[in-house]
Amino acid sequence: MSEIRTGIPVTTDPRARAAALDAADALRPVRDRFTLPEGVVYLDGNSLGALPAHVPGRIADVIGRQWGELGIRSWTESGWWQAPERIGDRIAPLVGAGPGQIVVGDSTSVNVFKAVVGAVRLAHSGAGAHSGGGAGGGRTEIIVDATTFPTDGYIAASAAKLTGCTPVPVDPADPAAFRAALGPRTAAVLLNHTDYRSGRLHDLPALTAAARAAGALTVWDLCHSAGALPVGLDAHGVDFAVGCTYKYLNGGPGAPAFLYVAERHQAAFDSPLPGWNSHAEPFAMDPEYTAVAGIRRGRVGTPDILSMLALEAALEVWDGVGIEAVRAKSLALTDFFLECVAAYAGLDGRPLELLTPERHEERGSQIALGCAGSAEAVMERLIARGVVGDLRRPDVLRFGFTPLYTGFADVERAAAVLAEVLKEVAAGTPGEPGRR
Ligand SMILES: *Cc1c(COP(=O)(O)O)cnc(C)c1O
Repeated sequence: MSEIRTGIPVTTDPRARAAALDAADALRPVRDRFTLPEGVVYLDGNSLGALPAHVPGRIADVIGRQWGELGIRSWTESGWWQAPERIGDRIAPLVGAGPGQIVVGDSTSVNVFKAVVGAVRLAHSGAGAHSGGGAGGGRTEIIVDATTFPTDGYIAASAAKLTGCTPVPVDPADPAAFRAALGPRTAAVLLNHTDYRSGRLHDLPALTAAARAAGALTVWDLCHSAGALPVGLDAHGVDFAVGCTYKYLNGGPGAPAFLYVAERHQAAFDSPLPGWNSHAEPFAMDPEYTAVAGIRRGRVGTPDILSMLALEAALEVWDGVGIEAVRAKSLALTDFFLECVAAYAGLDGRPLELLTPERHEERGSQIALGCAGSAEAVMERLIARGVVGDLRRPDVLRFGFTPLYTGFADVERAAAVLAEVLKEVAAGTPGEPGRR
């Protein structure tokens, strides 16, 4: 690495630097809010975040007292009914949204569907067009991130079919191609903020502004950004966003996702899944549908209370923690990982190749390393030795860095074990269960 921004001299040995960086880390105490398995360096929080220590007790109360004792009264007395919007407001500051614009529920896939169809319907009605859209009749294209996590592409293709549009695949890492694809035919744009595979961070402010200038609406997928780095949804004029809560927000396996609908679009937002929870008077049991005002319109059916309240409890680890501090530590962690990997194993393409951009402006909170020919064997051995990352077939080693509970000594150990494993695999020696 040419430049290390941590302020600790580069000349010292990596283990001593790790100790100094940990000692200077203001987020270090937050680690104690989590239950982490002994002897494991967990670098997979970008797939499934770690367990906050107080969640099991909270869920025991939700099940035993709220459900077991209060029963149906908990919909009002325990605040179950309002949970989707209340928890949305707790996530909002982490993604730069004011209150009343985020609702929690359903999976990311389902929310991609609501947001993309909702955005196209707005464009077609003319209500959502930023400029030059008119009635929006000619807006028949949906630009879709070609490098996306597959579910987004599948759902966008179906949304296009339903709305009479054509999906137009574009790589958001190529802003010129993106601008060339935009035009008077573009209804909506579905992009990822951080690429799940490479860890590349896309330029949300510039891409959103370009889409707006073309009169198109934006839908941003924040799965690999929410809880990892600042997003600035309101500040950058994003129209819709979705994200998951079981990655950097530590909500637990299958925790409900979130949907952001900018306040200015809520009155005209026409959800393609108008379930009874989004009715103006759900308990009137009216055969006629009347959409509720506000972000509750993004709901569908009965909220998934157990998962939702596990998520709500998990979000308490953010008390007193700002997303800017998390971003600063994330960059320091990934810089330090690259420095250690370069020192111990080499990053010159033999066998490791850096796939994540080195520029901070283009880097999310993960490092992806190409490891041609042996990635599977390497990751298997890493996990056996307590360094948990993941594999993206065929040859990508993926390491997620979660500043709330990952320290610099963890990073140094992960790089050292990686170097040992690479040597073993290259030499063809059988895996040795010993730990460093
Ligand atoms: C993790 C992830 C998803 C997950 O979708 P689910 O419906 O929650 O399974 C979707 N999109 C992206 C970009 C992701 O990273």
